[in-house]
Amino acid sequence: MEKKELLYEGKAKKVFATEDPDVLIVDYKDDATAFNGLKKGTIVGKGAINNRMTNHIFKILETKGVPTHYIEELSDRETAVKKVEIVPLEVIIRNFSAGSFAKKMGMEEGIKFKQPTLEFSYKNDDLGDPFINKYYALALDLATEEEINTIEKYAFIVNDVMREYFDSLGIELIDFKIEFGRYHGQIILADEVSPDTCRLWDKETHEKLDKDRFRRDLGNVEDAYQEVFRRLGIH
Ligand code: ADP
Ligand code: UDP
Repeated sequence: MEKKELLYEGKAKKVFATEDPDVLIVDYKDDATAFNGLKKGTIVGKGAINNRMTNHIFKILETKGVPTHYIEELSDRETAVKKVEIVPLEVIIRNFSAGSFAKKMGMEEGIKFKQPTLEFSYKNDDLGDPFINKYYALALDLATEEEINTIEKYAFIVNDVMREYFDSLGIELIDFKIEFGRYHGQIILADEVSPDTCRLWDKETHEKLDKDRFRRDLGNVEDAYQEVFRRLGIH
């Protein structure tokens, strides 16, 4: 599998075409951004960790009935994936209060919910990814009702599987964002699952092991990513 032209360079990954129109190669960068690109920096080693962690978790999810874009890990930073048409919805699941939810609801962080929440943001950088609901998504024709039902079903399975898995590593899954795409008429999980896109707290100490260390200038950013990777035990 060989990289052809660069199709897209995002904030965290480059996306390349291949000789197969159904296959892309994603190349994970060490670049970090926050607050819709306002804050920029580098997290050394992040690209390789996020690539290998995403692939590891996508493989587990496949065994639990969630179809994903994963095809083959090509190197530390590069993976061949199925080329999808991204559904322009960021799907956010929360198990504990944190981040924008805590702010909006006037709550402290780390309060465990009675049951998980699911919310959508419209994936649109110019608008700053605004919060929308299912009716907005249908009105704007971002997805069909059937697609949204499938996305919600898969998102809760992803939550159940990841929560149990991270728990076994001594990590509390606070919240996360995932993206889905259309592949030959089917909804499949795409993009990534990493400390960039999940809030992961040490179960005992509640230490933050995710991108909040970068967003909030908490220090030891690289160490946190390395610690999550170490616990995955995939070296
Ligand atoms: P952003 O676009 O937010 O800056 P990235 O730097 O992670 O994010 O860029 C990767 C882009 O590739 C994202 O827009 C994501 O939606 C898209 N993407 C992820 N997986 C696939 C896939 N399998 N097929 C097509 N596009 C994908
Ligand atoms: N998230 C993400 N990309 C985004 C927005 C959020 O990966 O563009 C993740 C974030 O890392 C967290 C979850 O989604 O795990 C919920 O984020 P929240 O809405 O609290 O927003 P934030 O506080 O990050 O602005």
